[in-house]
Amino acid sequence: MSAALAGQGLWVLLVVGWYVIRYPFERRARKTRIAHSGRDLSERIRMAVSFTGLGILPGLFVASGLPRLGTYEPSALQTGAGALVAALALYLFRRTHKALGRMWSVSLDIREKHKLVTTGIYERLRHPMYTAFFAMALAQALLVPSAIAGPAGLVGFGLLFAFRIGPEERMMEERFGEDYRAYKARTARILPGLF
Ligand code: SAH
Repeated sequence: MSAALAGQGLWVLLVVGWYVIRYPFERRARKTRIAHSGRDLSERIRMAVSFTGLGILPGLFVASGLPRLGTYEPSALQTGAGALVAALALYLFRRTHKALGRMWSVSLDIREKHKLVTTGIYERLRHPMYTAFFAMALAQALLVPSAIAGPAGLVGFGLLFAFRIGPEERMMEERFGEDYRAYKARTARILPGLF
């Protein structure tokens, strides 16, 4: 099997794994009441842009080989590295969901009786799920052998991240006040000790 084909198969497995991890939380989220929602128009646009880069463009490429422009034959080393990053992304994704539990949301929501999680994977990082998303996007760039559909996840999720983190932290600060400010002061966003 060519590395190109293996990479695309692994990307499909990554998406399936992603969904299997998320599904129980999505089900539970439907039953947990929302006290405040930050899903305004900008948030909807951010989600659509991110979904285009992480889902639609690579999905189209894997299903149909389109767009043909920018298609290349990757090395086995690149595909192997992609598999490794994908496994790490899934592991981190699962840990963040388990830590957030009923506080999880696909968007920006404060739930009824929302508690601030500051332990476990959330002890040193305040956005570890976004670290997992960046790892997933990096895995996509390595696994999907297209100079367009491959990096599209990094661009799409990068935009969501750049424009969501401000509103998300403001929302958390409004809800949790001094507790969130102190938490923010002692944590990094997505890379321990760095950023
Ligand atoms: N930005 C976080 C969480 C993403 S999920 C991360 O990357 O890990 C987004 C939802 O999680 C939002 O609705 C927000 O209310 C909630 N959330 C974010 N950080 C939280 C925390 N430390 N404790 C509890 N809920 C949190």
